Amino acid sequence: MHADLVKLLDLQAKDIVMKEVEQRLNSLQAEAGVLDQALRRARDSLDLARRAAADGARRRDELESKIESYRVLQERRRQRLEHVRNPKEASALMAELDLARSVTAKEENDWVRSAEGVTQLEIKVSEEERKIQVIEEEQAPERGRLLQRRAELEAERAAALREREVSASQINRQLRTHYDRLRGSRSGEVVVPLVGGTCGACRTTIPLNRRSLIRSGAVLDHCETCGAILYPAETAGSPG
Ligand SMILES: [Zn+2]
Repeated sequence: MHADLVKLLDLQAKDIVMKEVEQRLNSLQAEAGVLDQALRRARDSLDLARRAAADGARRRDELESKIESYRVLQERRRQRLEHVRNPKEASALMAELDLARSVTAKEENDWVRSAEGVTQLEIKVSEEERKIQVIEEEQAPERGRLLQRRAELEAERAAALREREVSASQINRQLRTHYDRLRGSRSGEVVVPLVGGTCGACRTTIPLNRRSLIRSGAVLDHCETCGAILYPAETAGSPG
């Protein structure tokens, strides 16, 4: 086999290890994402509950100021009534007082209902806060496990990267660049075996004379169709 092929296959083996570690890191990330999502949903519910409680409290306070302003007006009417001498004017003022009293009574009823509503909404806020607490407590062991696993995998990735760089340093720059570019653009492997006279990646037939050259180790050749670098696999029992 061509000397560069041996080195490329070694580098590819290291890259496969790297990729595998990265896939494990990604799935770990996805697991953490599921936990985050559950927490986010709970926080969104809490936000909604808090907003509803704040809106309710504002409406209740508005009613309160309104009732207070009615009370002030009513007090003025009462004072005026004390000084009114004209009976006709007095009875008109008394009718006004009665009407205002019933309006105020209605507003006070509304205020009671509103205040009760706010109490309920505040209970809901406490419930949502408690739910988040429960979720955080439930998730804590799992998050701990994920964090530890992540640290392990990151160390594994760093080690794999170091090994990869050692292998890569054995290959001349031009070929390495070519390999890296292929690796970036392909979903499968870069260096593939000849399988039954075809490219192991895309199954395009490789002409006999080029197959012979690849087998003899005289050249580093690639598939014209998909660009994969080809190596002879007949030693592994498969006829090239
Ligand atoms: Zn191919």
